[in-house]
Amino acid sequence: TTGRPRSEALYQEALKHIVGGVNSPSRSFKAVGGGAPVFMKRGQGAYFWDEDGNRYIDYLAAYGPIILGHAHPRVTAAICRAAENGTLYGTPTELEIEFARMIKAAIPSLDKVRFVNSGTEAVMTTIRVARAYTGRNKIIKFAGCYHGHSDLVLVAAGSGPSTLGIPDSAGIPISIANEVITVPYNSVEALEAALERWGDEIAAVMVEPIVGNFGMVMPKPGFLEALCAAARRNGSLVIYDEVITAFRFHYGAAQTFDGLEAQSLGCIGEQVIKSPTSPGCMGEQVMKSPASLGDTGEQVSSTSLGCTGEQATKPPAGFAAIEPDLTALGKIIGGGLPIGAYGGRKEIMEQVAPLGPAYQAGTMAGNPASISAGIACLQALQEPGLYDRLDRLAAGLEAGLADAAREHGIALTINRIRGSLSTHFCAHPVSNYEEAQDTDGEQFARFFRLMLDQGVCLAPSKYEAWFLTSAHTDEDISATVEAAERAFAAM
Ligand code: PMP
Repeated sequence: TTGRPRSEALYQEALKHIVGGVNSPSRSFKAVGGGAPVFMKRGQGAYFWDEDGNRYIDYLAAYGPIILGHAHPRVTAAICRAAENGTLYGTPTELEIEFARMIKAAIPSLDKVRFVNSGTEAVMTTIRVARAYTGRNKIIKFAGCYHGHSDLVLVAAGSGPSTLGIPDSAGIPISIANEVITVPYNSVEALEAALERWGDEIAAVMVEPIVGNFGMVMPKPGFLEALCAAARRNGSLVIYDEVITAFRFHYGAAQTFDGLEAQSLGCIGEQVIKSPTSPGCMGEQVMKSPASLGDTGEQVSSTSLGCTGEQATKPPAGFAAIEPDLTALGKIIGGGLPIGAYGGRKEIMEQVAPLGPAYQAGTMAGNPASISAGIACLQALQEPGLYDRLDRLAAGLEAGLADAAREHGIALTINRIRGSLSTHFCAHPVSNYEEAQDTDGEQFARFFRLMLDQGVCLAPSKYEAWFLTSAHTDEDISATVEAAERAFAAM
């Protein structure tokens, strides 16, 4: 931190005026040993520069939205144009229709949408709508999945078998926490047990269809199908929180992602599990699952220096839909400006005011600046080959990090899904929150700081993903891998 005196000084000043010096707790360095976070001054493409003039390769991507890199010319132009026309009217605009059409075209489960200002608002409202539609109060969520900071979903504790929720925050009444049942991700048994026990009280099952909040974690083959089937048997709605996942892996959402569909058919292409270190594992193992139903190549992979990879299950008889009833969106769809959206089946969405009895409103909702940035962002994301490029760059990064870790005897499990990956310091696979918790936070903290001091910016938490952007280059990946080699050597 000797190279960041201005960040140090600004942090001391910020502490006097802004609670904790930050406007979102995840920005503090509390989870990586404390001290001043880096105060950034400017972002351009894959880089940003701090107040001391240091440059960083950015894998934080603002926790996900900045998939085109910073200050993408197309998005910037759209924002400038919107600003010149006035940023807020409090009336409907044609832009909102255009954007709703674009999102519906990419995510067909959305008959109707509503724009809001954040992912938190979007999720919060899907729960209200589900309760209004079903006349039930409780929801089931999965341990470690983050759905924003509204009361009901800020209840994630309990990674054991299904537990009644314990709030993760002061200020949440137990009476509210009691409306949430938390079960382990990827456990159909725990979900079914919870539905068995609280069945006719469950309004909805809420899930990140692909998890982005305790690393990047794929649903096990058949998990989402079983989830949807069990919820529907029970008369509960299925809500997908796609705030992180929508437009992340392809032009669409997780619910329309071929990799997921192929996987739920028992085919995820090639899974490479390298396990030289753990007892009972001899050398390198490469497991190939059948490539019959549309090979998804290497876009989903798990490189682990641990043991016990799980083989894809047999394709289930008859592919059941994994489409949700309601979906929450945010992050990427705002092109870097504040946004959220929710949508779903027509008859459910028609519960919302002014058509129905479920109230939701917003002074800033659908503002022309956010909508314009969102349209420009989605247009830019339609560039042919863009997502394949992210996939290729991230595959190179994954391979480089895995080789470097192996060389230095560091146990590292990398979960990669297309252009996103997570690095867990452990020797076991990470498929649920418990496994993500059981990783070496101190080692991550060291790695994080060693990378930061070499100009590579990651999120300051062992649970967060690395996000590639369309602005990253092969040179950035090489520089990052070299930095990681030096970091691992120092560790
Ligand atoms: N859902 C998920 C899956 C998220 O990752 C987040 C934010 N990280 C949210 C909801 C909340 O979104 P916001 O921060 O825009 O309120």
